[in-house]
Amino acid sequence: MLGTDTTPGASGPIYEMECTTCLDTSPASGERAGPEDWAIRLTARHHDHAGFRALVTAFVRVTPAPGDPLHKMAP
Ligand SMILES: [Zn+2]
Repeated sequence: MLGTDTTPGASGPIYEMECTTCLDTSPASGERAGPEDWAIRLTARHHDHAGFRALVTAFVRVTPAPGDPLHKMAP
């Protein structure tokens, strides 16, 4: 099975915004609000920089199902 990595210490999603005009990128954050505020502030300074690519890095883990020979190796 493939799913969200919930093992102890696993990171939640990481959010970033990238300007599609100048390719400047916000600081990475575990919360969407910081990168979104960064994008709004960038557009306020440069009105023609209004398009952004929202980047979300999600961490997933393969967990072998019970009965799979690799199951006993799962954390
Ligand atoms: Zn820009």
